Amino acid sequence: MLAHNPLLESATHPSVQVAHGQGPYVNTRSALAGLDLSPARGKRVLLKPNVGRVATPGEGITTHPDVVAAAIDALAEAGADVAVGESPITGVDAMEAFVTSGIADVARKRGCGLIDMDRRPPVELPIERGVALHELKLCADVWDYDLVVSIPVMKMHMHTGVTLAVKNMKGCLWRRSKVQLHMLPPVEGSDEKPINIAIADMASVLRPHLAIIDGTVGMEGLGPSAGEAKVMDTVVAGADAFAADAVACRLMGTTAETVPHLAIGAARGYGVIDLPSICVTPDHWQEWITPFAAPAANLTIEFPNVTVFDRNSCSACQSTVLLFLKGYRDQLFDYFPSWRHLNIAIGKGNVDLPEGTLCIGNCAARCRQDGQYVPGCPPVTSEILKTLTGKPSIDSRDGRSPRANRPATP
Ligand code: SF4
Repeated sequence: MLAHNPLLESATHPSVQVAHGQGPYVNTRSALAGLDLSPARGKRVLLKPNVGRVATPGEGITTHPDVVAAAIDALAEAGADVAVGESPITGVDAMEAFVTSGIADVARKRGCGLIDMDRRPPVELPIERGVALHELKLCADVWDYDLVVSIPVMKMHMHTGVTLAVKNMKGCLWRRSKVQLHMLPPVEGSDEKPINIAIADMASVLRPHLAIIDGTVGMEGLGPSAGEAKVMDTVVAGADAFAADAVACRLMGTTAETVPHLAIGAARGYGVIDLPSICVTPDHWQEWITPFAAPAANLTIEFPNVTVFDRNSCSACQSTVLLFLKGYRDQLFDYFPSWRHLNIAIGKGNVDLPEGTLCIGNCAARCRQDGQYVPGCPPVTSEILKTLTGKPSIDSRDGRSPRANRPATP
């Protein structure tokens, strides 16, 4: 499906446009105005924002609705037939996420279709050059459209360094098949995390034809959902998703060469991350660099007296645990003064855990004999609190966004 990208003018010296300081709608229109969208005329174009979680605009979790509105308008004016689709993380309803993000409203006002991409059976797609991953279950809508536009939020990511236009395509994988990327065995002869190799494998068959990276409000620290919102008022756009990601990395104060899935993909020839080879407009774009705080390498530094044993968990479990810890970080040991240390386990791969470990999520069920167990896929924060306190929690929306997970009263 990626044999030819009609929007890409040069595979060796791709163009990337940066716009800053004019608000999300105008930034996006300005960035897209610098690209030739005329090849989209008469094409069916699928916009794939990041709406994998239930969150409101400004939290730095989901794509700003005005960025999506500007993308719909620009592509419709270019003569494309545009729709917006998402396959969210486990446990999230796509339509609820669209409504809460504000994207449902801007799409409906423009007569633009909204697609829950999980509603149809998937298309099985082999990955001939895969190293960690050899096939994908792709949402059928992605297969049906001529062009796909990745519209991620500019975020740091605990496990992959950053999550931008290349990784955002993971939201085109069908339902729970996304989880597979987090549970792969080590690749023989490589020290790299399997998920980073798997994202590069995914990019060999599933790359967007256009990247629009929303840096209106990004996320630093414990991204993709438990970090801090970072106001940037910047949008990056380009037809080479690797090049757009590389420019976004620089704006975030890091480099694509240090992001394994980008470095691996670029080395295989899936895109360009070498900044001198990328034609970035305007010339003074680096004036807008605003370094993002990196994710904590060790969660025990971020959450003293807590150790998280994370072995092959997926984003949904990670989000729940981090949001729980963020919500209760200080109160936890005040409420339970006899505790000195809390061990938490998530994911399928844990063995030999310390006695008393709190095992969270169905994947950790096999370790339940080592301590307390909170079932769920994904697990929810109210159940964690209930398990720990023996009392019901007043958390009502459970694990979807930091805003929705303010500390409850135990
Ligand atoms: S239990 Fe947790 S790690 Fe396992 S699939 Fe469900 S959400 Fe993911």
